[in-house]
Amino acid sequence: MNHAERREMESILQERGMTESPESPDLEIVHTCSVTGKAAAKSRNAIRRAKRNGKHVFVTGCFPGTDLEMASELGDTVITQAGETPMLDRFAHEIDAWLQQPSKNTQQKTTSLPIATLPQVHGAHTRAELRIQDGCDAHCSFCIIPKIRTTLRSKTIEDTVTEATRLVKLGHKEVVLTGIFIGAFGHETALRRKQQNEHEEYLADLLDAVAEIDGLQRLRISSMEPGDVTPTLLDAMVANKNIASHLHLPLQSGSDSVLKKMNRQYNTQQYLEMIAMVNERLTIDGLTPAITTDIICGFPTETDGDFEQTIELAKNVGYLHIHVFPYSVRTGTAAARWKQLPPEVVQDRVQALLQLDEDLSLAYRKQLVGKQVQVIIENDDSQKDYSRGRCEHYAEILLKTNAKQGELVIANVTEATGKATFAKQELNILSNQK
Ligand code: SF4
Repeated sequence: MNHAERREMESILQERGMTESPESPDLEIVHTCSVTGKAAAKSRNAIRRAKRNGKHVFVTGCFPGTDLEMASELGDTVITQAGETPMLDRFAHEIDAWLQQPSKNTQQKTTSLPIATLPQVHGAHTRAELRIQDGCDAHCSFCIIPKIRTTLRSKTIEDTVTEATRLVKLGHKEVVLTGIFIGAFGHETALRRKQQNEHEEYLADLLDAVAEIDGLQRLRISSMEPGDVTPTLLDAMVANKNIASHLHLPLQSGSDSVLKKMNRQYNTQQYLEMIAMVNERLTIDGLTPAITTDIICGFPTETDGDFEQTIELAKNVGYLHIHVFPYSVRTGTAAARWKQLPPEVVQDRVQALLQLDEDLSLAYRKQLVGKQVQVIIENDDSQKDYSRGRCEHYAEILLKTNAKQGELVIANVTEATGKATFAKQELNILSNQK
């Protein structure tokens, strides 16, 4: 989400003729995160660093939602995520106000640069994240987001297609649809029991519409709650060949009692039934789709037995990658009031899960060996032996090729090791084709 918002903020600045000037900025913008305690600490440090440069500092994103006092003390202009007016509209308004201050209005800011001089492929990524939805009211007991991003909003299908078309024209080969709760796209609530059924398949319609865009080589969905994977959504994934064979489906815990304490909207049986449906619909030539996940270790009340169930469930699914999060207390959430586990217990579980992640990842990537994959090159550094890219199954692939960044290479996977997956390029190099 923050990548997508950063890109939208860049557009707002570009429209006003502003450009990035890391050496001598007149304004510093710190777009923050506070989903975990560690992210909040990093945000705080980034604001302090920016402040030391003596320039006007904008603080945007989620951090002010958890510590407005600190954000206001450190930053000059603070823009929270909460509020009736979307954060980016308030950002544009504040930028305009700042530009109009005569004492701050330097030559650099008033000189319009043609858009063509600005970077067209942001941050050397071939992927572009595109926000389709914001906000959550599901109130998982560990999560601070519903208190920060309070209002649920969705883009229309039409606006999403317009924006995705623009990204493709800018040179992005892959578009990643992102949101706080993507399954709430087109709904006013993330609580499934309260959602209106007439919008049930709105997300599948969106996938169909975006996948049609000429020149879009790959479309990916960033993260979805397990209950939002429906047969119709999978139909859309099967029908549109440029939709990646990958889903990120947060598990958080493999224990039903912990899931209940977490206030998640599924239990382990529902999760496993959904995985079975995904595998049944998306497996091609014996190759199952890539599934990645988030798991929290050491949630209050998690027993050794609960953790064992998580390990067993993860083995059962066979994830390509597990994002392992040690439980992080977020003040203001229900779980923050519960007794914490000893840090050494949490660390032991983190280590066990990281080891499992390596083992499962290798097992999944071995499935790719001997298969043909499509790799979009992300790094064509000629100094390195191998170029790097991602295939439709989300695995990072190393290969020798003359293809440039953003080009699509058809390759055969030759080897999967503990840390890397290697492939050999076939003859075809496709540029800007579906
Ligand atoms: S679904 Fe749960 S974890 Fe995800 S944003 Fe909403 S409250 Fe947080």
